[in-house]
Amino acid sequence: MNVISYTQLVIKENGKQIQKGMNFAIQKTYSVVLMSTQKNAPYNDHIFEDGVIEYEGHDVPANINPEKKLVDQSLLTPSGTLTENGKFFQAALDYKERLREPSQIQVYRKLRKGIWVDMGFYDLIDPSQDDQEYLDMLHNRQIPGEVQKEVYERDMGKCRICGSSDNLHFDHILPFSKGGSSKVASNIQLLCARHNLKKGAKFI
Ligand SMILES: [Zn+2]
Repeated sequence: MNVISYTQLVIKENGKQIQKGMNFAIQKTYSVVLMSTQKNAPYNDHIFEDGVIEYEGHDVPANINPEKKLVDQSLLTPSGTLTENGKFFQAALDYKERLREPSQIQVYRKLRKGIWVDMGFYDLIDPSQDDQEYLDMLHNRQIPGEVQKEVYERDMGKCRICGSSDNLHFDHILPFSKGGSSKVASNIQLLCARHNLKKGAKFI
């Protein structure tokens, strides 16, 4: 999982200045979801122990309903086309009914203004049974957002070995493959690409 600037995010997404939480099929072969664990974030999520992300969809625009947190965006627009929520929900339903392969979703998590974590690709698997606002996405070796944030702040946004702030990665101190935890900040550190690779070589 790399730490990247918003500029790098835009370059990676072929110049698209992504701002919304949910961006269905914004690229040819995949969708993009932006997440945040910051207070007052426009989009919230929760990562469970097993690495499943529960993601809250877009809220109704504030100009339609001032109490926007209380009401979720509907699945259809007034003209009957699918909203972003609706498109994700439909894709998840289609997968559930085995009409298609799971949609690929590139996820980014905001750490702070201008600083993002590239979370990589997830499969869009299933909306929860009775609550349409949630979409579940599956992934392994997940480092929860709160832990990422704690590590980033503890290491002051720099490689722990050389102090570089370029090409940062979240590194498991005791490797995940050797039973190292992803859930506690004490087992995660920030390393630059160079030191991350060096460390990897040591364990092979
Ligand atoms: Zn370094």
